[in-house]
Amino acid sequence: MQYKRILLKLSGEALMGEQQYGIDAKRLAEYAEDIKSVIGKGVEVAIVIGGGNIFRGLSGASQGMDRVQGDHMGMLATVINGLALQSALELQGVETRLQSAIKINEVAEPFIRRRAIRHLEKGRVVIFGGGTGNPYFTTDSAAVLRAIEIKADVILKGTRVDGIYTSDPEKDKTATKFDKISFNDVLSKGLKVMDTTAFTLSQENELPIVVFDMNTRGNLMRIVSGENIGTVVNI
Ligand code: UDP
Repeated sequence: MQYKRILLKLSGEALMGEQQYGIDAKRLAEYAEDIKSVIGKGVEVAIVIGGGNIFRGLSGASQGMDRVQGDHMGMLATVINGLALQSALELQGVETRLQSAIKINEVAEPFIRRRAIRHLEKGRVVIFGGGTGNPYFTTDSAAVLRAIEIKADVILKGTRVDGIYTSDPEKDKTATKFDKISFNDVLSKGLKVMDTTAFTLSQENELPIVVFDMNTRGNLMRIVSGENIGTVVNI
C-alpha cells in the first residue's frame, strides 16, 4: 500500500447522493464498503466529515442569522453526519470511534489526539466531527489540522470530480486534468482545491493532498494502492 495512515475528507454534500438535502443511505453504505476494503488491507483510516448537506454558517448569515450561531449549527451538522457514517460502518462490521471537537459526551468521545492515534493503531476508523470546534473555519481546515496532528501520510479529498483541472470541467469542455501539481502552482494559477486557510496549513506542513472522485466504487482502494487516478498536490 502506498499510504499507511490516511485522512479522508468527505464533504457533507457527498452524502446527499441524488437527493437535494440530508443523507442518502445508499451512498453512505457504498462509502462504508469502500472504507472497509482499505481497512482490510491494514491501512489506518481517519475521516473528517463536512456538514454542508444540512447547514452552513455562511448561508445562515446571508439570511441575517448571527454567523457564530450559524457556524455552531454547521458544526453540529457534522456530528450528525459523523453519527450516520459511524452507523453505516458498524453495519459492515467495521469498528469505529467518533470524536467531536465540541463536547457532546453522551454522543461522541471528545477529541483527544493520543487516543485517536491509539484507535487507529488498533484498526478502528476514527471519525472526527465538529470541525475544528471554532466558528469561521471549514471542515477542510479541520481535515488538514487533524491530519497533521495524527501524522497522516496524506489527505484524500473525495469529491464529485476526479481531480484538479485547468478550469471547471463541469462548465468548460476544454479543461484538462493535472496528474500532479505543486502547492505554488495551484496558488499562482488561481486554482481552487480547498479554502485558503486549509490550503496554506497543508502547504506549510508539507502534507500532500490527493483530490479524487469518491463516487466511483473502488477508487479509494486504487488511490491507497498507489494508482494515480486523481490529482496529487505536493511541494
Ligand atoms: N464549521 C465551523 N467550524 C469548523 C468546521 C465547520 O464553524 O471548524 C461550520 C461552518 O458553518 C460550515 C459548516 O460547519 O459551513 C459545515 O462545514 P463545511 O461547510 O466545511 O462542510 P462541507 O462543505 O465539507 O460539507
